[in-house]
Amino acid sequence: MKVAKFGGTSVASGEQIKKVGDIIHEDHERKIIIVSAPGKRFSSDTKTTDLLIALDTQVAAKNPYTEALQSVIERFQEIAASLGCGNEHIVAFSKELQALCEDDNISDVHRTDCLKACGEDFNARLIAAYLNHRGINAKYVNPRDAGLVLSDEPGNARVEPETFAHLKKLRDLEHTVVIPGFFGYSKSGHLVTFPRGGSDISGAIIAAGVQASLYENFTDVDSVYAANPNVVDQPKKIKEMTYKEMRELSYAGFSVFHDEALMPAFHAGIPVRIKNTNNPEGEGTLIVAKRDYETTPISGIASDEGFASIYVSKYLMNREVGFGRKLLQILEDEELSYEHVPSGIDDISIILREEQLTAEKEKRIMDKIQTELRVDMIKIERGLALIMIVGEGMTKTIGMAAKATAAFAIAKVNIEMINQGSSEVSLMFGVKAKDVSRAVKALYNEYFGENPAVSDAVVLEPVEASH
Ligand code: ASP
Repeated sequence: MKVAKFGGTSVASGEQIKKVGDIIHEDHERKIIIVSAPGKRFSSDTKTTDLLIALDTQVAAKNPYTEALQSVIERFQEIAASLGCGNEHIVAFSKELQALCEDDNISDVHRTDCLKACGEDFNARLIAAYLNHRGINAKYVNPRDAGLVLSDEPGNARVEPETFAHLKKLRDLEHTVVIPGFFGYSKSGHLVTFPRGGSDISGAIIAAGVQASLYENFTDVDSVYAANPNVVDQPKKIKEMTYKEMRELSYAGFSVFHDEALMPAFHAGIPVRIKNTNNPEGEGTLIVAKRDYETTPISGIASDEGFASIYVSKYLMNREVGFGRKLLQILEDEELSYEHVPSGIDDISIILREEQLTAEKEKRIMDKIQTELRVDMIKIERGLALIMIVGEGMTKTIGMAAKATAAFAIAKVNIEMINQGSSEVSLMFGVKAKDVSRAVKALYNEYFGENPAVSDAVVLEPVEASH
């Protein structure tokens, strides 16, 4: 049994949903279908979830909201008409939306989630109706009936462990089941949503719960690429990668997947295949627990901007018991989370997301570090980018770092920071944000290009074979 999840662009219009119908029709193992809300049909279009958020904003402000409500309904009307679904669905959706907007007994945060979830919910109902018209014995199943129990954290819910046992019963259904993604219910009965992009999480949880043989994630790209196609011209498609590699790549700017979306599938050992709804014949990218990394030690190169570093230097820091703890405590007191902490004998740098570091927080932590830790020097640098070279073979192949440093030298990019060792699958570099594209292009050429400056034949060798 396969679980197939279709993202926003795959279900953005009637035309797209017909392709989804073909894909389901083609493979009878695709028994559980998770759908997103209608996404963008063209680049300047608005996602239905954003239309619903706009509606919620009007309701919360007690402003007239008829127009905002109408924009949502129009999206579904168009889809229903194109799929040949009757108007009774649209009448029901209007009534439900209206009732939610008028409900005074619901808290603001829970109403926001209820409205946001309508995108997925209405779409799942239309898609189930359409599949039936096509002769597929399909059934809409609400996440409550499926047993998706989530923590009561509106907009940021997490799955509760009992969910996985509940989901097993979906295996026994005779129908092709269509479940809306992105939301579930708390123990106290409230509808709650995952963070944005959370239908991927729903899909992975359901795939884990039913012990699917494969979790297929249908999107609008042919595969995951070895570098950002907006930076590198026609980067290589990644055919197979591990969960760990995917996690590191998506953390550092690969937007195909929600950062933590794969965790449930990963824990249950379920392979994931990313495929393109517009090109379902394509092989896509398979994400597995283990892969053979000897021929392709590196999977990809990712980068992300918006980081700052707090550099602290103190003579004999290495001998001062508790220094690191006290330093991190200062950050904790300001509710700052950090990403990396590379350190030396007398120096330590803390890398964090720049947006958290307001001018007031910056001033307070500078003062505290100075007075409480009596350091020799403290320096805050903003406008940093991180580049991650990711691959299971990274730390197990000789010559990997030589290639990276050669690329930085060729691109004339200064390396502000290097971190290798804490992660087994990545090598991280900090550079100035203005240099990041140049560096990524040079790195790509070094690892994947035809003419690398440091030839693979000269340096690349598995570690074991080196002595
Ligand atoms: N529709 C939601 C969003 O736009 C969830 C999703 O599509 O995964 O974030």
